[in-house]
Amino acid sequence: MKPEEFKEIEELYERNVMRPSTRDENYLFKYLNESERLPSNKRRRYFYASDATRCERSLAWAVTGVSKSNGLSDKSLKIFALGDAIHEQLSKRYTKIPGWKFYEEHPGEIHIKKKDRDDFLLSYRVDGVMIREDWAKKDLFGIDTDKFICEFKSIADFPYSTGRNRNKMVYWYGAQDIPKYDHFAQLQIGMYGEGVEYGILHYHNKNNSEEATHIIKLDVEYTEKLIERLWKIQKEANDGNIPDRPFMAYPNRTYTDLMKTKRVEGESMKTAWQCMFCDWRDKCWKLNEFKEEE
Ligand code: SF4
Repeated sequence: MKPEEFKEIEELYERNVMRPSTRDENYLFKYLNESERLPSNKRRRYFYASDATRCERSLAWAVTGVSKSNGLSDKSLKIFALGDAIHEQLSKRYTKIPGWKFYEEHPGEIHIKKKDRDDFLLSYRVDGVMIREDWAKKDLFGIDTDKFICEFKSIADFPYSTGRNRNKMVYWYGAQDIPKYDHFAQLQIGMYGEGVEYGILHYHNKNNSEEATHIIKLDVEYTEKLIERLWKIQKEANDGNIPDRPFMAYPNRTYTDLMKTKRVEGESMKTAWQCMFCDWRDKCWKLNEFKEEE
């Protein structure tokens, strides 16, 4: 707000505001942030679609059932809840297209058996499957198909928007113009699993509700390479070979967290974002006196 607007509210605010102690505030958030679910003791032994482009070290731990060393923060849980609400709204809108039936949250799995190899199992859940009604004649996007897989993504303005400098040179390609690699891979896995040739990747910008859609064709060769990569990670992990860290991160002095940036020999170095959000970061970087289970 402008300084004159600030003056107007300031006095009014100061006259009426109550200032609870941090302890009282914490009391409120303790209950607001309470999880609605009990923690599960399920140990994971298969892949998810979102693993397609994930760090191979964390995947090796995940697929051999190694427990996560880091839980989800309150902030992450709230981000997911907001994403769920946007997904719900998008699903409702997709039911309004005449001649197309929309099935939301459709689960499936890719299970491959080959001689002399452990089975490959990947579990996925596409945000929606759209199927043309028998009587409907009109094509969607001018494509002659009766089925689309839908993936909905709610993201912040960065990385949604394409950034240009003063000379109009692009310094950041936003998801509005080109999908994020992991989202592209996830949609490919969904299409492959369902045997569907076309998919819609629908982005919703959380900052301003702008939207962008990408209509994508199934790329079998690409998806099978993704699967092969995961399968190899699984085989190596089962043989006890956990890959080295593919990313760099910088623990703080007390080894309680990772720093976003650190000056190393006069240069500003960044911790890889994959490590910042990784469920195994304490184990990987030996933070918080992480000890291996006996
Ligand atoms: S902390 Fe980083 S390098 Fe280690 S497993 Fe996670 S993403 Fe990979």
